[in-house]
Amino acid sequence: MAEIPAHVARALRRLPAPACAYVYDTAALRARAERLRAALPQRTTLLYAVKANGHPDVVRTLAAACDGLEVASGGELQLAVAAGARRIAFGGPAKTDAELAAAVRAGALLNVESLFEAQRLAGLGLRADICLRVNRAAVAVTGSHAMTGTPTPFGIDENQLATVLAAIPDSLTVIGFHLHAVSNNLDGAAHAAFLTDAIGWSRQTAARHGLHLRVVNAGGGLGVDYTGEASADVTPLSRVAVPEGVELILEPGRYLAADAGHYAAEVIDLKSTHGRTFAVLRGGTHHFRLPAAWGYSHPFTILPVDTWQRPYPRPQVTDTPVDAVGELCTPRDVLTRGQHVTRLRAGDLLVFARTGAYGWDISHHDFLRHPAPDFLIL
Ligand SMILES: *Cc1c(COP(=O)(O)O)cnc(C)c1O
Repeated sequence: MAEIPAHVARALRRLPAPACAYVYDTAALRARAERLRAALPQRTTLLYAVKANGHPDVVRTLAAACDGLEVASGGELQLAVAAGARRIAFGGPAKTDAELAAAVRAGALLNVESLFEAQRLAGLGLRADICLRVNRAAVAVTGSHAMTGTPTPFGIDENQLATVLAAIPDSLTVIGFHLHAVSNNLDGAAHAAFLTDAIGWSRQTAARHGLHLRVVNAGGGLGVDYTGEASADVTPLSRVAVPEGVELILEPGRYLAADAGHYAAEVIDLKSTHGRTFAVLRGGTHHFRLPAAWGYSHPFTILPVDTWQRPYPRPQVTDTPVDAVGELCTPRDVLTRGQHVTRLRAGDLLVFARTGAYGWDISHHDFLRHPAPDFLIL
């Protein structure tokens, strides 16, 4: 179980009961960005994918600690502009005309996902350098979500690329390709091989079609192992050769933000039914949906709270497996299954580490209308 950093524990202990909060640690965000930056090859641009965590303080911190931001909606574009991002890349399969126009005006580099989108962009009367997002025929990388080499709504099928390139309106200049292909890849060496392959494919494809290649955007996908302590080893990335004149863009979200977040929720009730013990939390999957969405058990660490001022005995369990469940009226509101505890009491806090990415942002906040958690920015 991950240790709770002392400054995170201190912040949580100051919360009024019943406690429920996300803690985002901006120093941890900066340290993580620095660590990744140190492992990147030259001519590499590091953008943070805002969809992992769009809290304005997180976005501002990573806009400064990275070279810029990757956005996937008009809302994220506004956040990125407000955060003072020096570089912005804009992807997403359903950009509206208004979003396309706003992106060009903000100086963002568009990752265009279809010929129709290119035509709509040109139809706005705007000139732009663009990248084409391509769904390659095959891709040699593993992770939890395959996005290329398989039918998806993302990008242009490699087999249609020649036809699309021939039809791109003259006001648009294709300067590169966007090849985001994987999510939560834990194998750093495989990710480095993917980057090398993406660069090689882009050079060959550009040469074949007479394009001047300036950008290879390999997207995000560096992973974090939620059930253990590991993250993708990024050291093999330093050995990727980026040719002169080409910029490699990386857009990690999870890898940068996950470890800077802690989600904490107070144990409101403790009970056993039909042989299983449940810690019922002030919180749940409407705040942190990832374990339910992915079907895994997210480990917790107990933050003991020793004060007890009620005139009746404190519910307590010892030396037993516990399911951490939320306050929603559905049996699917489960964060953790069967984690062994030596002692757990009503009023203690469960702290879920590595919840800074795809936590609050992907959750269905309004289901059952419980109050939102507090957000503590350290
Ligand atoms: C989601 C996404 C990312 C970030 O992915 P992570 O797995 O969080 O690194 C980057 N680029 C694109 C296009 C995405 O859709």
